[in-house]
Amino acid sequence: MHFVDLQSQFKELEQDIRSRIDTVLAHGKFIMGPEVYEFEEQLADFVGVKHAISCSSGTDALLMPLMALGIGQGDAVFTTTFSFIATAEVISLLGATPVFVDIDPKTFNIDPKQLNLAINAIRENSPSLYPIPHNNKTKPLKPKAIITVDLFGLPADYDSISHIANKENLYLLEDAAQGLGGVYKGKNSGSFGLMGATSFFPAKPLGCYGDGGAVLTDEDELAHIVKSLRTHGKGSEKYENVRIGLNARMDTLQAAILLPKLAVFRQELQSRQHIADEYTSLLDQASENIHTPFIPEGYSSAWAQYSILTYQRDKLQQRLKDSGIPSMVYYKKGLHQQKAYADLQYKKDDFPITQQISDKILSLPMHPYLQKDDLKRTTDTLVSCQV
Ligand SMILES: *Cc1c(COP(=O)(O)O)cnc(C)c1O
Repeated sequence: MHFVDLQSQFKELEQDIRSRIDTVLAHGKFIMGPEVYEFEEQLADFVGVKHAISCSSGTDALLMPLMALGIGQGDAVFTTTFSFIATAEVISLLGATPVFVDIDPKTFNIDPKQLNLAINAIRENSPSLYPIPHNNKTKPLKPKAIITVDLFGLPADYDSISHIANKENLYLLEDAAQGLGGVYKGKNSGSFGLMGATSFFPAKPLGCYGDGGAVLTDEDELAHIVKSLRTHGKGSEKYENVRIGLNARMDTLQAAILLPKLAVFRQELQSRQHIADEYTSLLDQASENIHTPFIPEGYSSAWAQYSILTYQRDKLQQRLKDSGIPSMVYYKKGLHQQKAYADLQYKKDDFPITQQISDKILSLPMHPYLQKDDLKRTTDTLVSCQV
């Protein structure tokens, strides 16, 4: 059994993918070929934004919006501590400081109430109000931006967070690396902030065969800057450079691979929803000790992961492993506990909800091609372990 089964998808799409790759090999425009623009147009349509700017990875898709907004030294960027390192890494790469915030215990997304506390604590420069990072500069940090994460495919609480961003005059940026395909009140993941970032890492809901990502926005001027940043800060003419940028383009071959995958993505999202429903119904019937995912009213998840909570996490994971069933722990600890962030001097118990959840969380095999037998074998193994 696979945790994410890329081979089954390839078997379904093989002809289309191979013919798209052949076309690229024939025309030879490996950098910014026509498939890149075709994919960008279709992705913008899918998300419902004016601009989709493809790029080399989800991490670069997070980095470039911060660069475009001039985030740097002395700036505080608020984000969840319960995420993949890339969410915070890009803040630090620019010399700004991540200010971590604890999560909602049911959705695992950033908790708006605690976000408010963290913003106040930074404005007052007072660690007694909320745990804030150690700052060895003489000047207090300046609140600049919020990066939400649509964890496991579920959009964050954008009613509350957009309100906070407006009230506090902060840029709202969305890490939709896991979120693409998620929906809240008819709006798609990737479109909730000023700019959104998504990833096409192979195991993400929409994955390519290498690294890839995209920045999503309605803002013409910011889109223009991001396009410049991804090609060495280019100006209007070739070899004219107007800002310091990156080499962060998406390969034409990756765009060619993504096109047939995007064509079936809606269908695949339906399969993911169906599989999630099946997991939930089997587990809810059979066990009180396994908590299935909570999807609030009005939301739909892209089901990048199907994650349960259980006090016997390590035992269950071992039992699954013994039966040849893969599972993963996302995430074993909060970002504030990573060694890379030791200089921020956060304490382990600064974020108690993250601590609790990271001890109990377990992600089960999830992909659109998961067979019913495999799903049943997974839930049976989990349930038999409970009695
Ligand atoms: C995967 C991921 C990223 C980074 O994407 P890459 O394409 O691997 O650079 C960023 N944030 C989150 C939440 C992710 O899951």
